[in-house]
Amino acid sequence: MLRPYRGHRTTRCGVSDRTRVGIVGAGPAGMLVAVLLQRAGIDCVVVERRDRSYVEQRVRGATVEYPVVELLRRHDLAAGLLATGAVEDRIEFRMGGRRYPLVYAPLAGGRTPYLYPQQFLVRDLIDAFLVAGGDLRFDTTALAVTDLEGDRPRIRLDSGAGAAPSELWCDIVVGADGEHGLTRAAIPRSASRTHEYQYDYAWLAVLAEAAPSSDSTVIAIHESGACVHVPRGPVVSRFYLQCPREDGRADWPDERIWKEIRIRLALDEPWLLHEGPILSTSSLRMRSLVCAPLRYGPLFLVGDAAHIVPPVVGKGFNIALADAEELALALVERFTGGTSARLDAYSDRRLARIWRAQEFVGRVMDLVNTPGPGTREAAYLHRVQCARLERLFASPAYGAAFLEDHIGWE
Ligand SMILES: Cc1cc2nc3c(=O)[nH]c(=O)nc-3n(C[C@H](O)[C@H](O)[C@H](O)COP(=O)(O)OP(=O)(O)OC[C@H]3O[C@@H](n4cnc5c(N)ncnc54)[C@H](O)[C@@H]3O)c2cc1C
Repeated sequence: MLRPYRGHRTTRCGVSDRTRVGIVGAGPAGMLVAVLLQRAGIDCVVVERRDRSYVEQRVRGATVEYPVVELLRRHDLAAGLLATGAVEDRIEFRMGGRRYPLVYAPLAGGRTPYLYPQQFLVRDLIDAFLVAGGDLRFDTTALAVTDLEGDRPRIRLDSGAGAAPSELWCDIVVGADGEHGLTRAAIPRSASRTHEYQYDYAWLAVLAEAAPSSDSTVIAIHESGACVHVPRGPVVSRFYLQCPREDGRADWPDERIWKEIRIRLALDEPWLLHEGPILSTSSLRMRSLVCAPLRYGPLFLVGDAAHIVPPVVGKGFNIALADAEELALALVERFTGGTSARLDAYSDRRLARIWRAQEFVGRVMDLVNTPGPGTREAAYLHRVQCARLERLFASPAYGAAFLEDHIGWE
């Protein structure tokens, strides 16, 4: 049961604070919830374990789907994106030395996505929240979320610098703490179910100081495994290489990374791969996960805290923002309109969308990754992949259905 609204503000009393909504995590999901609540006059506090510059510079996704562009416009949060983002008009597949450009405009009816790095949007949201006097505590780690069975949940906090742990008392806790956060784990097993699918390969994520070698995302389907190239601004490029799950950095010296990228992205026509110093690498476990329901009493999960998809067609960041808008509007309705109907429907409503995204991403994973490269089965499955890709371009109906899923449907 939610307690009735009493219009209080965050108060500090000794080592305990009190607020209406406590938000764990200042990623895109947590910050969008915070800004929308703040604008509706609902008291909230955001706690973030990292410092501000880390959060504002963390390079991740960049494709903002058209419905999310509209979402940001609706809330007057799209100024940065519209001023410096670029329209993304295509994605290019490569296979057998040939290009297969999937151009959005003819099929998308003007609903084209934008390229605007995730960290820029997070920076815009943080600016908006702080300029309006929001309470955002960096370098503050949530250690535990407790008392979820009652009507006074608490977040235990470590503010670092040797300070004693403190507590934030809330009416509602928003778990926006990402894939490895603690809020999902705070829900008892008997009250939720985590559905998980683990792919039997990994992706090596490579960030390089190298000019983009293409003006659109390139996804190569190759018998040795998938390779993806994503432009990340004028001097930085992201690459992903499908690799065995057990591989570590030592298996991938820089020369091997560039050699493999050259092989998998190769074209039968002249094409130049820009190489440069490798800034970072990480091995991404390829997994999909959905926690259901997205609510346990006064705790609500949004974004990667609730569901994960592999970063193959840029869904994660977009679904996280759509979750955040829905939850924020439901909370506003609850606290200012006094009705809980939308909040009660939050989990079911979002899960329908989340599963649709899971299905699409699973389909793309099967299209682009080669299970067990080097095996007899891989040679067979690679030919099936080729047939699927050919069909995508040969059949307008198949192409349009793919594109509808790809560019978003919120
Ligand atoms: C390498 C990589 C590339 C990606 N590429 C794409 C892409 O191209 N397109 C796309 O759509 N998606 C992509 N994603 C996924 C996308 O980044 C996520 O879906 C998105 O960040 C989810 O946002 P979020 O706010 O839910 O979580 P996050 O962005 O993970 O934010 C969670 C925040 O919570 C904080 N936090 C965690 N634990 C605590 C704690 N105990 N106390 C306080 N704070 C805490 C974290 O520091 C973090 O700031 C990529 C992900 C990775 C890792």
